[in-house]
Amino acid sequence: MRFSKLRLNGFKSFVDPTDLVIADGLTGVVGPNGCGKSNLLEALRWVMGENRPTAMRGGGMEDVIFAGAASRPARNFAEVSLLLDNSERLAPSGFNESDNLEIIRRITRDAGSAYKVNTKDVRARDVSMLFADASTGAHSPALVRQGQISELINAKPKARRRILEEAAGISGLYQRRHEAELK
Ligand code: ATP
Ligand code: MG
Repeated sequence: MRFSKLRLNGFKSFVDPTDLVIADGLTGVVGPNGCGKSNLLEALRWVMGENRPTAMRGGGMEDVIFAGAASRPARNFAEVSLLLDNSERLAPSGFNESDNLEIIRRITRDAGSAYKVNTKDVRARDVSMLFADASTGAHSPALVRQGQISELINAKPKARRRILEEAAGISGLYQRRHEAELK
């Protein structure tokens, strides 16, 4: 699965609908301090299910909603859509019927988050399962935050093993075993 487009609407500083087309090869994002480069990476993490406000540099999950500026009132919702190229049909069963997958996460003030995959309502855990076998997802080691390298160096062995397992693409198996044991 390949990321092909990220669309933001009301997410952090991206108050107006904004598309980031992710072409083949390397994509670089350049701009002055505070223009929203890190917000783009946070949007990517958020749409894949990130639920820790600290990972989003906020105090609460609703802090991802555009908070208003001198000339613009605050928004009531934030929405991020992620388009995946699934032409190689690598998505897990249940999601594998089409060449393109669109994952949408929307948060509304006082109403929490809702997810959709190709216009169908899904649960947060369905989205996390969708990414669990793909070595990606909100906690993917492929998304490197500032300070994360030193965290990895200082991590306890167990935490470091989790990171290696995620990179090896086997964390989905643990999630399924855990759910099977609960049944
Ligand atoms: P740097 O080059 O310094 O790393 P950057 O391009 O990564 O900068 P970001 O950190 O992505 O910039 O963007 C920060 C901007 O986003 C700040 O101007 C901040 O006010 C704005 N911002 C963050 N959250 C919100 C929000 N909820 N509503 C409106 N603006 C927000
Ligand atoms: Mg930044």
